[in-house]
Amino acid sequence: MNNPYLLLTPGPLSTTDTVRLAMQKDWCTWDQEYMQLVQKIRRTLVDIATHQRHEYTSVLMQGSGTFTVESVIGSVIRRDSSKLLIATNGAYGDRIIQMANILGIQTVICRTSEKEPTNLHEMEGILQTDRDITHVIVVHCETTTGILNPVEAVCKLAKVYGKKTIVDAMSSFGGIEMDVHESQIDFLISSANKCIQGVPGFGFVIAKKEELEKCEGISHSLSLDLYDQWKTMEELSGKWRFTSPTHIVRAFHQALIELEQEGGVRARSERYAENQQTLVEGMYDLGFESYVERKNQSPIITSFLFPNDRFKFEPFYQHLKQEGFVIYPGKVSKVSTFRIGTIGDVCMQDIERLLQAIKKWEY
Ligand SMILES: *Cc1c(COP(=O)(O)O)cnc(C)c1O
Repeated sequence: MNNPYLLLTPGPLSTTDTVRLAMQKDWCTWDQEYMQLVQKIRRTLVDIATHQRHEYTSVLMQGSGTFTVESVIGSVIRRDSSKLLIATNGAYGDRIIQMANILGIQTVICRTSEKEPTNLHEMEGILQTDRDITHVIVVHCETTTGILNPVEAVCKLAKVYGKKTIVDAMSSFGGIEMDVHESQIDFLISSANKCIQGVPGFGFVIAKKEELEKCEGISHSLSLDLYDQWKTMEELSGKWRFTSPTHIVRAFHQALIELEQEGGVRARSERYAENQQTLVEGMYDLGFESYVERKNQSPIITSFLFPNDRFKFEPFYQHLKQEGFVIYPGKVSKVSTFRIGTIGDVCMQDIERLLQAIKKWEY
């Protein structure tokens, strides 16, 4: 069961032995026991997302997180009569723009630099002048840099103007406390292999029931039709429309049990925050500065600037891999950075060991 290295990446991430062990059995998709497990997962996700559980539902969707984002965009927004306001400050926000373009959905962009969170004044200006906007979407933790966007303020502002709200909380759900009802989020998207600490293979949506109910027949895709997937899961009590990733679902169920055992999202968010704080402080002492200002920084993943002109990512990466750690290349467009994730089955002692390994490197 020994892993060759610890993943300090934003997913897939290091999982526990017990989560991986849950995949050692084969499960029938039609069997009652399996479908009950699916239903339990769906209920638990809503419980994690809000105290106002009766107003919300959840849907699981095959594929990586991007498939689920695309299924929401394509199943919730009409091509002929809707317009999507996209707040972006990184690669994942830009991916949503790309998706909307491919789907033929009208868009307006509210862009800030990769260092700046969503600008609420600018967003309000757009909402005031463009009355055709029907939906607003924002990425919570923009994994490109690790910056946190003010989703609650964005969604509340969107609601003042009567818009539907969508949040890509892929890399934050389960790792940062939030309540979809309090934050006025209609559709929240995340996936199995991020802060819930499962393995990759499906995504999920927490949706306000009365909004999802209005989405019949909107999707131009069969397999990514969120409404249809939801209807089937509801009517057939946990049945997926097409082959479900049974092993991954079983591992995810185990991951949810372990989230509760850890003390829920609050305890997990504290562990991540402690990891991240240990990391930035230790890195600072070693001469590395983080790219995002501390007040906007998430506990999920941190971008570090190259310490000098001689620094090269590849040999640094290889050195750390030999020491038992895998980190991530940078994704910021204009400056040279690399990223270190602090989520997954990772604790402060792991970060301290990482810092020791970095110290050995001549840079
Ligand atoms: C991981 C992630 C996604 C989905 O990426 P996949 O590679 O498709 O799993 C989307 N948005 C954000 C913010 C992410 O971190």
